Amino acid sequence: MIELVSESRCVECDICVKVCPANVFDMTEGVPVIARQDDCQTCFLCEIYCPTDALYVAARADGPLAISEAEVEQRNLFGSYSRALGWKRGKAGGSQLDPTHRIRVAQV
Ligand code: SF4
Ligand code: SF4
Repeated sequence: MIELVSESRCVECDICVKVCPANVFDMTEGVPVIARQDDCQTCFLCEIYCPTDALYVAARADGPLAISEAEVEQRNLFGSYSRALGWKRGKAGGSQLDPTHRIRVAQV
């Protein structure tokens, strides 16, 4: 479930507002607010698309953890899901490990 938006990290691009399929956020004049936390589907889209790792979505889907921003920062959890997926710049995505092309070459 979405836990928090960091005001210090957010650059107010509103991408999270646009990608969220459950309309959890409200746009403001500044940092978006989590307006309907209970509607969160724990899909991680907001965390993946946030350009500054300003969001934290906990894997637990059935209720908020009420984790503090200081703890998220200390445990290096900001952006941790997208890092694990290989979505961050400079990290290999893993497709080079896919051996399927060798099978196709062998069939030609
Ligand atoms: S996507 Fe990230 S940087 Fe952009 S408004 Fe949302 S929290 Fe802020
Ligand atoms: S995890 Fe998915 S449903 Fe929850 S706030 Fe982010 S984009 Fe919306």
